[in-house]
Amino acid sequence: MNPGGQTRRQLLKATIGSAAGIVLGAPVRRLAAAALQATSGTAGTLRLSDDLFVVTIPGETNVVVHTSADGVVLVDGGSARASEALMKAIASLPGGGPVHTVFNTHWHPEQTGSNEPLGKAGRTIIAQENTRLWLTTDVTWPWNGQRFKRLPKIAQPNRTFYTTGALGSGIRYGYIPDAAHTDGDMYVYFAQQNVLAVGDAVSGQGWPVVDYVTGGWIGGIVGGLQRLQTLANEETRIVPGRGPVRGLKDLKSQYEMYGTIYDRLSQLLNKGRGPGEAVAAQPTKEFDAQMGNPDEFVRRAFESLWAYVSPDA
Ligand SMILES: [Zn+2]
Repeated sequence: MNPGGQTRRQLLKATIGSAAGIVLGAPVRRLAAAALQATSGTAGTLRLSDDLFVVTIPGETNVVVHTSADGVVLVDGGSARASEALMKAIASLPGGGPVHTVFNTHWHPEQTGSNEPLGKAGRTIIAQENTRLWLTTDVTWPWNGQRFKRLPKIAQPNRTFYTTGALGSGIRYGYIPDAAHTDGDMYVYFAQQNVLAVGDAVSGQGWPVVDYVTGGWIGGIVGGLQRLQTLANEETRIVPGRGPVRGLKDLKSQYEMYGTIYDRLSQLLNKGRGPGEAVAAQPTKEFDAQMGNPDEFVRRAFESLWAYVSPDA
């Protein structure tokens, strides 16, 4: 199952399948189709409940959309390039309307691209305080030279927290302090729907990016997966930043896999090996058939250990 691969027809089926879709009738369905065609023609929507959806525009990360009479809450807002298309797709959902709040699960531009228009419209942008701090400064990734400009003030999170928070009675959120992906990772839990949105703290598709420049590290991936298991039960649907919806058993198997890799990389580090030698040692060998070429991941994961053991180096 892949929300990114969903077709418009599947979206319409999902829309029609909901009670709201039936009540709203054909003109609204045509409108929804038109709006999506105007975006890219292939935006996909996965319906998790009558008021909770995952919207995916090709090439973009998952966006969780909660609709209510008070307006729409988003978990992540896509990239700036896709923001307009995303807002159109959201407006065409059953119960869709203006966004009043967006969560930034972390600072990466794939998550924070709607901050500027939403900030200008006076909407609430919630993030862990570390995420706000990263968005106030320029960041450069040494491994590929990629540069990220700080966001203008209006686009920065305007409500931050340190540990946990709640939005109304049904939405609880909190910090994932293990630094799985960055040191500002957060989850959002929709209690009524039993849906847990986790951003890139869980990699739903292939090997993860280990952004050690902003705090992420391989040990944090393991720690985050362990922590998130305590927030989920057998029925919880877990929405990662990319890829299909997951369950508790996926967290468990990922926890075991990354735990194994973490142990092997730590041993290599203790023997004084370097990133190239870590890649050559094939510490992910038995997982590669399923996960794909690991070289970049292994290199970053190993470098993240260096960064972790000597943060000022
Ligand atoms: Zn990310």
